[in-house]
Amino acid sequence: MKRIAVIAVICALLFGCSAPRRAAHKAAPVIGITAGGVGQSRVGQAYIDAVCAAGGVPVILPIVTDAAAISDMLRRVDGVLMIGGEDIDPKYYGEAPIPELGEVNAARDTYEDILIHLCFGAGLPLLGICRGEQVINVILGGTLWQDIPAQVPQSKVCHKAPEGETAMHKVTVAEGSVLASMVGSGDFNVNSFHHQAVKDVAPGFKVTAVSEDGLVEAIERIDDVARIVAVQFHPEKMLADGDTTFLPLFKWLVAESQK
Ligand code: MN
Repeated sequence: MKRIAVIAVICALLFGCSAPRRAAHKAAPVIGITAGGVGQSRVGQAYIDAVCAAGGVPVILPIVTDAAAISDMLRRVDGVLMIGGEDIDPKYYGEAPIPELGEVNAARDTYEDILIHLCFGAGLPLLGICRGEQVINVILGGTLWQDIPAQVPQSKVCHKAPEGETAMHKVTVAEGSVLASMVGSGDFNVNSFHHQAVKDVAPGFKVTAVSEDGLVEAIERIDDVARIVAVQFHPEKMLADGDTTFLPLFKWLVAESQK
């Protein structure tokens, strides 16, 4: 009798609880987060927390430069978040470096070049933030301002405050954009931690937000080929500071990754 009772309890646990509960829920999509750093593969906690807050399962995609390995990693994720970091080597958009160019990371450039082409080819949804926005634009055929103060001196907007401080400025989100469908069109205050910006927009992309100096603060490509939204500011930092205005960007990535 005792043994039957034990078996009954095990069956109840296995089939009565676990199995139907598992079947009733659609698995949360896995969001690969690109890593940065030299001699390491590092992701800021705010990016991870933002993916969790949007209902995604975060995994870190470490820096590897082997195309087959990157392809194998991408087969295990449903969408990709590309994070901020160093300057992209301007050779990727056919320019020589100017003296004001910041630090570059060759291994990371190689890794993200391969990763973006693979994501694009596979139609994986992509959300780019800061460097993430810039590298998506460059790898898919656009260019950058290598340094805003040096190359756009007429800009009166502070896009990068001194170390340890946060610059904030206004951006205007274009009506009819996918970005506007997430947060609404019109003016928003965003943070700003960059000295580079998108110059020529990659073919197939459109500008969906600009700052008051006319610089690009968001781009997107949403069509049958790709689902890509990218911003120059840091919505994950705003979220970490308790501002949920741009949480819908992460929710968009998670929702697209579930399709
Ligand atoms: Mn800015």
